[in-house]
Amino acid sequence: IPDWTRLHAVVAGVGVAGFAAADALIEFGARVTVLEDVASEANVEKGELLGVLGAEVRIGPGSSATLPDGVDLVVTTGWPPTSPLLSQALARRVPVWSEPELAFRLARSRPGRPAPAWLGITGTNGKTTTTTMLASMLTAAGLSTAAVGNIGRPVTETVLDTETRYDVLAVELSSFQLHWADRLSLHSAVVLNLQPDHLEWYDPAGGDRDAAYAAYAADKARIYAGVEHSCVYNVTDPATERMVEEADVVEGARAIGFTAGVPAVSMLGVVDDLLVDRAFISQRRDSALELARVSDVSPAAPHNVTNALAAAALARSFGVPATAVRDGLRAADVPGHRIETVRTLAGVRFVDDSKATNPHAADASLSAFDPVVWVAGGQAKGVGFDELVRRHADRLRAAVLLGVDRALIAEALARHAPQVPVITVDAPEDGAMAQAVAAAASRARPGDVVLLAPACASLDMFASYAARGDAFAAAVNDLDEGAVGNA
Ligand code: ADP
Repeated sequence: IPDWTRLHAVVAGVGVAGFAAADALIEFGARVTVLEDVASEANVEKGELLGVLGAEVRIGPGSSATLPDGVDLVVTTGWPPTSPLLSQALARRVPVWSEPELAFRLARSRPGRPAPAWLGITGTNGKTTTTTMLASMLTAAGLSTAAVGNIGRPVTETVLDTETRYDVLAVELSSFQLHWADRLSLHSAVVLNLQPDHLEWYDPAGGDRDAAYAAYAADKARIYAGVEHSCVYNVTDPATERMVEEADVVEGARAIGFTAGVPAVSMLGVVDDLLVDRAFISQRRDSALELARVSDVSPAAPHNVTNALAAAALARSFGVPATAVRDGLRAADVPGHRIETVRTLAGVRFVDDSKATNPHAADASLSAFDPVVWVAGGQAKGVGFDELVRRHADRLRAAVLLGVDRALIAEALARHAPQVPVITVDAPEDGAMAQAVAAAASRARPGDVVLLAPACASLDMFASYAARGDAFAAAVNDLDEGAVGNA
């Protein structure tokens, strides 16, 4: 832990986490320089506020082009190593920390105030859902807790919170945050699953996808480093188990598996319609502790049961009783756009899974429905669609494609599902989603699900996945019965 008062730190960007990091560093007495390239109204306002608090602030194009001299530390909210600022930091051997890494260290620099335990969650998909479920279980157990990190509230803000003393934090960590972390050592941690995503972050030129995937996996694996209690892994995703085997953990830390099937010893799993624990029990080796019913999990989809089990494993590793696991699951308020039913019209259910921003996520939601009119497309982020299309060809009534990389999905459909009708929406931002929804509705039959599971990022046409989901829901709510099945 450094002497914060002698430190000159650069904070890269004044977004939510950057602002919180700068604020925290100022409070701990560091000299802070904030570099922000985008001079939006909100950014200028936040910059002015940080200026008043004592930071040096540079806002406007090119602000982050040069790393100032004499800097001891750079804090980033997830900029890639190839960005000019961070490549200079790496070349000059200036340490680079993500915002959670900063928070972890700050929490350990408060005399007389014990740092909260961290339960960490990463993985390609299911992070926010699992983090939300976990925080709900911890709350149900009467613990003072919060869901923080990549999920919204910056971790530094919780560390600085003078009103609440947290016992334990449910921390969602992205691969970017883990990339710039080296001292995080959590009570327990999980990698939910591992599939290609964000490869362009690692390899902007797109030259070596395999190397990019390996680097992405290595960053995810960092969550297990230094774990004190339990490394939780996905029994059906061998990559996550391998990460645990290779992790450098505290002696005595355990490997705990979760599976949607019947669990072996040291696992959580499902028996009949029950979620059971065979890991955190003191009784006989063959016993299992009932935690909750499968029907306590919502949204009800197979992959979500595994999210619930992963959350339960982390909660149980912190001593949460079975009843609190169940109560927490029932009370969990998972944020929208994640397999959210918008409306049922003329026997057709319209489901918003705008958060399915990569093929692996879309695979999970497609698996939950049959037959499906699939609405997809957006920014592909350097990953392929062949496997996804091949797996679900039989359940597709039709596919409606929009967004900048729509042709990539169309090509995969032509290769692996030539029998599926494909409607391509070429309209630009305005109106494209309404056209897509109308086309999807017209192809649907009673009993079908019209599913927005884009398998792509939204940023080519929308401000966020949430804006994309809202556009879908608005278009669905504008439909009348006559729009369904009229193709
Ligand atoms: P993240 O925070 O990792 O992006 P979310 O919990 O927000 O994950 O879920 C995003 C989407 O990923 C969901 O809408 C769903 O389509 C899919 N998903 C959720 N959990 C899983 C899982 N365990 N395996 C595969 N896909 C999942």
